[in-house]
Amino acid sequence: MNATLISVGNELLNGKTINTNASYIAKSLRSLGIMVTRTITISDEEEWIFKTLKETEDKIIIFTGGLGSTSDDLTKESVAKFYKLKLQLHQESLTRIKNHFARSNNEMPKVNEKQAYFPKEAIILNNDYGTAPGAIIQLKESTIVLLPGPPQEMKPMFKYVMAFLEERIDYRFHEAGYLVAGTSESVMEEKLKDFYAKHSEVRIAPYAGLGEISYLMTSKDASKLEKALEDFKKQFSKNIVGPYNQTLEEILVERLIAQNQTISFAESCTGGMIASRLINVPNASKVINESFILYSDTSKMKHLGLHQSILERFGAVSAQCVYELAYQLAQRTGTTITLSVSGIAGPSGGTHNKPVGTVYFGVHYEDKTRTYHKVFVGDREMIRKKATAFGLYLLIKTISHEDIDS
Ligand code: AMP
Ligand code: MG
Repeated sequence: MNATLISVGNELLNGKTINTNASYIAKSLRSLGIMVTRTITISDEEEWIFKTLKETEDKIIIFTGGLGSTSDDLTKESVAKFYKLKLQLHQESLTRIKNHFARSNNEMPKVNEKQAYFPKEAIILNNDYGTAPGAIIQLKESTIVLLPGPPQEMKPMFKYVMAFLEERIDYRFHEAGYLVAGTSESVMEEKLKDFYAKHSEVRIAPYAGLGEISYLMTSKDASKLEKALEDFKKQFSKNIVGPYNQTLEEILVERLIAQNQTISFAESCTGGMIASRLINVPNASKVINESFILYSDTSKMKHLGLHQSILERFGAVSAQCVYELAYQLAQRTGTTITLSVSGIAGPSGGTHNKPVGTVYFGVHYEDKTRTYHKVFVGDREMIRKKATAFGLYLLIKTISHEDIDS
């Protein structure tokens, strides 16, 4: 079954408000196997509401916004007019709205009365956090849902819509997938050609970030999905880091905690981004105590005792430098795993042998120090973000004792 979402509100079009309702509703509907084919944002105008309804073929049409008390809010009135439904007073709603005002010792302003009018076909959705009730209107051909715009009012009411729809759909989608790193989307696409052909009944949606790609697979058939997941895992074991709905840092923190490990970083070109991503995760304090941003050559010598001779012979962007930094960091912090990163984020500073995007990584773990070398493509920010993702990838694979794609 398909759905169209229509967000009504001038504030959404002039950039004042971000349309968070659309993503919330689309995500929720997907869990029922209902696909949103279009999300449309329109102004508070009858003409636009009519035009949009005329163009929509989906069986489920969900409106948010335009249920307020002021004259510019006219979603309900326009929808009723379009489907030739008569509005009549819903006494219980009127009482609820009056009670809403009475709670703060106020009388209901006359303008709010219109919020209690609904077509007789409507199932009323009570609003516990505001005055505008919502409604589900079941017509012969389609289901129309009306919800208020404020997310804090809309979300609790949407639970009833979900329950209503769940009872009426005849199948569910199964979904699962993987988060992949240490590779790029285009390299993956090339390798996935046969996979797509073989698993044509499984819908595969890649969501590419910088240095990480989440593959969400959905199918009506649980066993077909299972088979696809198995094949994917076999083919991409080096790059899979966890389930599709977790972040690299969540996976890393979770595993570090499970293994009772601690971590620290010596970051040069990433400038603290790796530590920052890790610290975004609640519970990071269980695994990280301190971390260094060592941007200049002197800071690397001062805080981690890097020998000047290494800088003179190989430079700060070198395997020798990151090796020393990761090793010294482990000795000085006593953490069970360390990561060092040094690279050329650009736009200047590149050479023939070490072009912009060159990044070296050092990992010290279980008495061994290993180094890795990558060349990332992109502008300064992209290179730094890709290096951050690759660093997190290296750490997850290292503590899991799994092969690394380098
Ligand atoms: P309403 O009175 O039902 O039109 O709702 C208006 C209020 O809800 C405004 O304050 C908006 O900022 C907020 N709002 C409306 N639509 C959305 C949306 N799609 N996403 C987030 N907030 C919204
Ligand atoms: Mg409005």
